[in-house]
Amino acid sequence: MSAPHHLAAAGGDPAVRPQDDLFRHVNGGWLREHVIPADRARDGEFHRLRDEAELQVRAIVDDAVADPTSGPVPEETAKVATLYAAFMDEDAIEAAGLEPLRADLDLVTGAADRAALAGVMGALQRTGVGGAFGLYVDTDSDDPTAYALHLLQSGLGLPDEAYYREEQHAATLAAYEAFVARQLALATGRSSDEAAEAAAVVVALETRLAAGHWDRVRDRDAVATHNPTTHTELATLLAGFDLAAWFAGIGITDAMLERIDVREPDYLTAFAAAWGEVDLEEWRTWLTWRVVRSRAPYLTRAVVAENFDFYGRTLTGAQEMRERWKRGVGLVEGALGDALARLYVDRHFPAENKERMDELVATLTEAYRRSIADLEWMGADTRARALEKLAAFTPKIGYPVRWLDYSSLVITSDVVESVRVTSAHETDRELRKLGGPVDRDEWFMTPQTVNAYYNPGMNEIVFPAAILQPPFFSPDASDAANYGGIGAVIGHEIGHGFDDQGSRYDGAGRLTDWWTEQDRTEFEARTSALVAQYDALSPAQLGGSHHVNGALTIGENIGDLGGLGIAIKAYRIALAAAAPDGVVDPEVERAGLRELFHTWGLIWRTKSRDEESIRLLSVDPHSPEEFRANAVVRNVDEFADVFDVKPGDALWLDPAERVRIW
Ligand SMILES: [Zn+2]
Repeated sequence: MSAPHHLAAAGGDPAVRPQDDLFRHVNGGWLREHVIPADRARDGEFHRLRDEAELQVRAIVDDAVADPTSGPVPEETAKVATLYAAFMDEDAIEAAGLEPLRADLDLVTGAADRAALAGVMGALQRTGVGGAFGLYVDTDSDDPTAYALHLLQSGLGLPDEAYYREEQHAATLAAYEAFVARQLALATGRSSDEAAEAAAVVVALETRLAAGHWDRVRDRDAVATHNPTTHTELATLLAGFDLAAWFAGIGITDAMLERIDVREPDYLTAFAAAWGEVDLEEWRTWLTWRVVRSRAPYLTRAVVAENFDFYGRTLTGAQEMRERWKRGVGLVEGALGDALARLYVDRHFPAENKERMDELVATLTEAYRRSIADLEWMGADTRARALEKLAAFTPKIGYPVRWLDYSSLVITSDVVESVRVTSAHETDRELRKLGGPVDRDEWFMTPQTVNAYYNPGMNEIVFPAAILQPPFFSPDASDAANYGGIGAVIGHEIGHGFDDQGSRYDGAGRLTDWWTEQDRTEFEARTSALVAQYDALSPAQLGGSHHVNGALTIGENIGDLGGLGIAIKAYRIALAAAAPDGVVDPEVERAGLRELFHTWGLIWRTKSRDEESIRLLSVDPHSPEEFRANAVVRNVDEFADVFDVKPGDALWLDPAERVRIW
């Protein structure tokens, strides 16, 4: 099969040379011709797999509705059926009007003083309404054999604090205020004048909270965001805020407060000052908005449409709302994900996939081991610790060994009430972990999720079943394709254990400095060079108006660079193992590497609307896909070698300027 024919058939652009632009060489035809569906902000290979998984999950949900007594756990099947059917019954939701909101809104208006309102904020957080600060339970970074209660900044209705202060977001902020006014008029029966006043209060209060927020770059610093705090110290940070009432509302007992970790301590202080100074009625208005915003997707057509108009159209550029069944499947997925997962795994994850993945992970780990053993910039002490950490990685593939238990959940035909109940169930489950042993079998994504993650606190890499499909992975694909796809993804996730933040945790998941000073300096010289490379990048689509934030994306870029480099090494190990006498024909290897790079270009096939590109440049720690493909390969010697890249080619980088970290 000739290369141009193959590429044209696959959506490539043979007129673009890989030496100049691998991303468009592999994806140019598709980028030109593909139309992003009206109901989304971006589309591509990840999204194609997500669409497939969504259809597969829909079939599971439809089967549940057709026979609620079927499946391995019939009472779960019945809950899936009830929740989905309730959400799909638009007429009943329309007829119920705003009644389902009443219980939440009555709590807010009934709070007579600040202490009562603090309790209401906690109670609402338990049922899924975000408060002024949030919480989660995760391992204690000082002792990963125990859980800690982690507290973090929150309280905003826009994607992050930058939207409240940066000129480039001024139009979005104005649109937000108008949207809050329209939605409050619709959902709470305020007159349009009253609603406009209320919206101004909400935006002013959120702007004040945003001023206390840390920005995204500072907020990804693992050391700065680790602040062990006693119960007494927490009360001091939040002086003037009735912490006991909030704890009681959300369901936190004294026994759960042994270990507290505050991500942004001075945010809590800034919030507490605002809590004391801002009029109680204004806080009620803000909390009313938090309720409306959280419940909007489950209310009447008009409220749902208004919600989409801002969060979909304005913020991401999407033109149409997703079809109702997709939103219904999403709701069930969020509420009862593991009930769907049992069947998803049965139907769509063959056992041989797991075996093949085990081999790939083992080869990638071996490639990292050899690479770390040979690193020219790293001293013996740090090297020994890095190898210890590598040996301690836990891979999880496909699906968890245990499923979540939904037996105590009561799902009814009242969608909003069912959302409250499932959120409370999940909050309670999280909080119950405090004080107990760490559950190393827990998963933080369902198997039907097209994604993967690294969790530094458990030093684990996790690959849900749904990402183990072409173009990432197939048990029938060539080694070159598998290593350029899932191999690089595995390498990326392991790479997070050694990125600028992950490298501050040891193999047990403890936040501790295991580096010599000199090795850390060498490491940072390399990461700084990579930050500078990415700072210089600007998506052509936006005409040079916006740049990549090298500091925000450095962790992901290290993951990509290490991931691809190690995948290449692993591919060579696999080639040698398969060669009869261990000697690989250099031409076979070159052809294989070219295929590997093509797959690497293909997995990033994505196009985004301008609004979404701008939003993501501001908030997403990942670089735009074209750079995930191109900016990485220019640092990789093998790419220059097998494509014969020369000075003058756009992807040529002088060998002295190439960054190799791991
Ligand atoms: Zn990543």
